Amino acid sequence: MAEVKLTALIVEDEENIGNFMSAILKANGFKTILCTTGNQGIQCAESYCPDIILLDLGLPDMDGAKVLEAVRQWSVTPIVVISARNQESEKVRALDMGADDYITKPFGNQELLARIRTALRHRQQPMEAGTTTPVYCAKELKIDFDKRRVFLKDEEIRLTQIEYKLVSLLAENAGRVITYEFIIKNIWGPHADNNNQILRVNMANIRRKIEENPAVPQYIYTEVGVGYRMLENELFSQMIK
Ligand code: CA
Repeated sequence: MAEVKLTALIVEDEENIGNFMSAILKANGFKTILCTTGNQGIQCAESYCPDIILLDLGLPDMDGAKVLEAVRQWSVTPIVVISARNQESEKVRALDMGADDYITKPFGNQELLARIRTALRHRQQPMEAGTTTPVYCAKELKIDFDKRRVFLKDEEIRLTQIEYKLVSLLAENAGRVITYEFIIKNIWGPHADNNNQILRVNMANIRRKIEENPAVPQYIYTEVGVGYRMLENELFSQMIK
């Protein structure tokens, strides 16, 4: 029996980037559809119902955000936005509009596949309520969500209540960028000041506890101007070959 392939819709007007993504995805078992305008992208999303959409924000006929908006009206298919450097506010806007993640040009194939894997996994989770993995595990860091305990090289790390909430929020969304605003609302509540200072102080304390060199973090990365991204949970990284 033939294996059922996942379909990826690529909406990208730069031919070389579109072809590059298409080649990587095909080599990794996807069927791909390539569109070069926003209108085509919206139409193809409707006719093919792809499993994932890779969407460039700078399209010749419309802002990629318009495509995102149109598709999100009827579909929860994962959307990874492709954007140029120094467009932090656009990335934040795309995430707020329902994009699952973003990737910044130029990117390599490993990074592209990692983003896709994470986006696909995250869309699968809400379908299977109660099956969230009870453990985060990457390199030498382990988090036991049931017992609310964190270990580094098998030694328990003592975190404050807030620090634990912050680490577990990132770990539950590992591999995915989480915006400053989302973190602040989740930890300090919807009426909290949208002031990143308290978040930065807590993150500095966490990094001192879990990172060998807090200036070059290997577990929690800063996505400048956008938020934080935690290293992918190794229990999931084998999902797409
Ligand atoms: Ca473009």
